[in-house]
Order: sequence, then structure tokens, then C-alpha cells
Amino acid sequence: MLTMTKIYLSSPHMSGLEQKYVNTAFDTNWIAPLGPLVDGFENDIEAYLNNDIHASVLSSGTASIHLALQLLGVGTGDEVLCQSFTFSASANPIVYQGATPVFVDSETDTWNMSPELLEIAINDRLNSYKKPKAIIAVHLYGMPYKANEINAIAKKYDIPVIEDSAEALGSSYFGVKCGTLSDIGILSFNGNKIITTSGGGALITKSLDLKQKAVFLSTQARDQAPHYEHSSIGYNYRMSNVLAGIGRGQMEVLDERVEARRRNFQFYKNNLSKFDSIQFLEEPEGFYSNRWLSCIITSSYEQRESIRLALLEDDIESRPLWKPMHMQPVFKNAVSYTNGVSEDLFNKGLCLPSGSNLTQQDLERVLQIILNTLSL
Ligand SMILES: *Cc1c(COP(=O)(O)O)cnc(C)c1O
Repeated sequence: MLTMTKIYLSSPHMSGLEQKYVNTAFDTNWIAPLGPLVDGFENDIEAYLNNDIHASVLSSGTASIHLALQLLGVGTGDEVLCQSFTFSASANPIVYQGATPVFVDSETDTWNMSPELLEIAINDRLNSYKKPKAIIAVHLYGMPYKANEINAIAKKYDIPVIEDSAEALGSSYFGVKCGTLSDIGILSFNGNKIITTSGGGALITKSLDLKQKAVFLSTQARDQAPHYEHSSIGYNYRMSNVLAGIGRGQMEVLDERVEARRRNFQFYKNNLSKFDSIQFLEEPEGFYSNRWLSCIITSSYEQRESIRLALLEDDIESRPLWKPMHMQPVFKNAVSYTNGVSEDLFNKGLCLPSGSNLTQQDLERVLQIILNTLSL
């Protein structure tokens, strides 16, 4: 074939249903960072997560983490324990608050924060500095972290948990939806996520009071007054009514998107697990992953690179697993508690094309390149 179209790692997948909501925004001139679609989108999320929670939709997942830290009172001189194996947006807001991230490595069963290492880190911080102010745990690639274990440790030491569910909308843990498992949850609707509003996020809280505080802070912290009166520092973090319209349309197809991503994973697994050199992350009993990205672990850095470069040659996008935060130049001075797990995953792991809009033909094309590489 002469012209092959590029295959992306994870691209937006509109259903067509978004348009009617966006049209309402235009027809009613609600082109603002508030409005009926914002309220409607929040109701949709609350109904979906189904766990007596309150959602506030915001401009991004990063903004949501930032406000979560703010709500928990994290400030200058505080330490926040953060999963090292993640995207930098989990950790950056700690620094926005003038606080210091302390990184905790992963466990092999879920690739997420190791409960054992978390407890070691807490005890060590208690001995050498002071009590960490919060814990940020991440459901990476859609696989839930061990919430029972993490929450039990958090409770024992009385430290709140921020649940970074940016990659895990549609995942669940013993029947409970990710985003509602810990004290404050966050979601992302960035362009590459399982559903998207082009850019956006949500903060999930258990109390209406916390939601109201989040909305207050996200709309410039205006006190009740006819003029503009401020007694605290606010942010411009509220979601636009237009984008909330896209979100409402996307919520209607969320379950289909999860099924499609899980089908992609199953396809790769069915065709590649016969090779000893290729490993997949299985769901532990009770864990349900949205399989946001399908990842493989190869036998070596060299093998990973040979697959990645062969795909690239055919205009197929793939990506090494997240580079752990404790290995990032920007966090080179940060304290970290490591066990080699995330470093090994980073060296050998590859995210394969995973969009819910991939065709069978696309999947076959990706598979063929990988098979050719493995048979060399
Ligand atoms: C995407 C992502 C975020 C940030 O979300 P944005 O909406 O892009 O700001 C945070 N954490 C993780 C793990 C993510 O993948």
C-alpha cells in the first residue's frame, strides 16, 4: 500500500452526541465558565460514579489536583507523598503549593504505589522530618491501586489520600468506581484520556461543603457582596459551559469506550502472550481496569526499543511507560523510597496504540509489525 495513515497512541473519539449539547450552549449564549451544561455534566458524573459523591468540573486534571491540595491545607514546608510511577501532572501541583514531593515506588501486582513502601516512607518521614500532609496515589493506565491497603495505612497515620483517577474513569475496585475510593478523587478529560472535553478535569469529594469550597476557589474566590470582595486567593479553574457540553455527550458513550479499550488489550494479549518475552499486567481478583492504554513489558530495553522503532517506521505511535518522577531531572533533589520496580517497568515497557476508535485493520497492522520484530 502506498499511503498508510498514521496510527495514534490514544486519540479523541467523538460520538456525534456531543454536538447537540454544544449547540445548546451556542443557542442560549452560555459561553462561559459556568452554566447549565456544567451543572448537567456534574450530575452525569455523579450518577455514573454512583457513590454518594459530589463532582466539580474544572479546567484540567492538574487544576483539580492543585485544588485538592489546597482543600487539604497543603502549603509551604509541607511534604506530600506521591506515587513516583506517574505522569508529572500528579506531582507538579505539590510544588505549586510551595510543598515538597516525596516519591514512593510501585509494586509489581498493580504497578501502583507499594503499600509496604508507603508505610516505610511514612515512618521514615516521621522520624527524620515531620508527618506528611497528604498522599497522592495513582490508578496508572487505568489499573486500580490497592485502595484497601493504602487507605488502611493512611487511616493509621491520619493522612488524607488524593486519588489520581485521571487515567481510570470507568475502572473499579471490588465494584466501587475509581475516583470515589479515597478522600478526594480527581479525573481528567484531556484529549488523550478515555473520554475528553479537549481539556478538563473534575474534583470528586464526599461532602457538599468541600465541593462548594472547590467551586468557590475555582471561580476567583469571590465573597458574597454586590461588588468584588475577596478574602482568599482564588483561581480561574472552572470548566467552560461549551466544553461541559462535549463532556455530556462523551458520558453517554463512556461504557462503550471502556469496552473498546478492553477489547484492544484482549487482542494484544491473545496474540502476544504466547511469547515468553512479552508480559501483560493482569487484573488481580476484584480489580477492573478500563485499560486506558494497553502496555507490554518486553524482556529488555533493547527489545522494547526495537519494537518501538519498528512501529515508528510504519507511522505507528507507541510510547515507553512513564518515566518515574524520582528519575526526572526536575525532581533530582527529591527524597524517594524506591525498590527498582518502576525503573524496570520504564526500561522495558511500551504503551501500544490503544484508542477506542482503532479498527480491526489498525490492530492487525500494529500486531504484524510486532510479530515481525519478535521473529527476527
Ligand atoms: C492526564 C493526567 C493528569 C493531568 O490531567 P490534565 O487534565 O492533563 O491536567 C494527572 N495525572 C495523571 C496520572 C494523568 O495521566
